[in-house]
Amino acid sequence: MVKSHRVGRATLDDGVVTTAYRAVATVECAQCAGTIAPGALFSRKSRRTPSGMFGLTATDPICVTCRPLRLEGTDEGR
Ligand SMILES: [Zn+2]
Repeated sequence: MVKSHRVGRATLDDGVVTTAYRAVATVECAQCAGTIAPGALFSRKSRRTPSGMFGLTATDPICVTCRPLRLEGTDEGR
């Protein structure tokens, strides 16, 4: 089941560029365990696999309260 869709590029408070998502269903923030309501923006934090493993795997939803983000561009409406 799809719980979110990609909105576009966003910059976090610390200047890191990330991908912004919009919740379609309720998502739980992995950091504060708060609820990310449908329609709300959020980012995802890559969880690095242990060394020796390849690549990046799961990403945890992080609400904008934990990591404020600024939208750079949007793919919506295209
Ligand atoms: Zn949070």
